[in-house]
Amino acid sequence: MSADQTLAQVAQEVSVCQKCTLYHSRKKAVPGEGPAKCEIMFIGEGPGFYENEQGRPFVGAAGKFLDELLAQAGLKREDVWITNIVKCRPPGNRDPLPEEVAACDEYLERQIQAVDPSIIITLGRHSMGKYMPGAKITAVHGQMRKMGDRYVIAMFHPAAALHQASLKPAVVADFAKLPQLLEQARKGRGRDQQPEAKTQEPSEGDFKQLGMF
Ligand code: URA
Ligand code: SF4
Repeated sequence: MSADQTLAQVAQEVSVCQKCTLYHSRKKAVPGEGPAKCEIMFIGEGPGFYENEQGRPFVGAAGKFLDELLAQAGLKREDVWITNIVKCRPPGNRDPLPEEVAACDEYLERQIQAVDPSIIITLGRHSMGKYMPGAKITAVHGQMRKMGDRYVIAMFHPAAALHQASLKPAVVADFAKLPQLLEQARKGRGRDQQPEAKTQEPSEGDFKQLGMF
């Protein structure tokens, strides 16, 4: 099966899945989206109100901020894969439960295998827990770790920075490092013979314009 076919198949299964009780609060499942093959995959927490309405990841306020952060790293949303550890909305945006994360993990694993990203970026504590159980996000955020054939970076959830202004500089700084970390990951994976990076180094002025500093 091609990557495209696998991703379509997962999306289809998720739309009718009843493997955990979150299907009760699902209006539209949110499998995630992005190019069939790409170098960076973001894993958020779970669909919120707007995501559940539209069936697309990160379309609310956190998504708008994510778009801005991507732009600062010279990336567009269409260049990356974006998904969540649970594909259906937890009622009232509560945290996903461990059994819900466990039930949904099979879909995420199949997506990772298909997309084959060099870098996985977890957004927030819940998706960080998949790769760094017990880690403190304040201690490990922004650090790239080799895990098997891939690299994993834990970052704060963009929504956390929207609610807690003191986190914003750290979030912005972590995203600003992405072009450099991507370069490093390509070398580490022995894929540095690829065409030039699509990313552009952001300048401090870019951040100032957005009022991020
Ligand atoms: N927050 C998430 O973690 N995921 C989304 O898709 C939207 C908001
Ligand atoms: Fe299935 Fe995942 Fe939705 Fe639970 S959250 S019903 S496991 S798709």
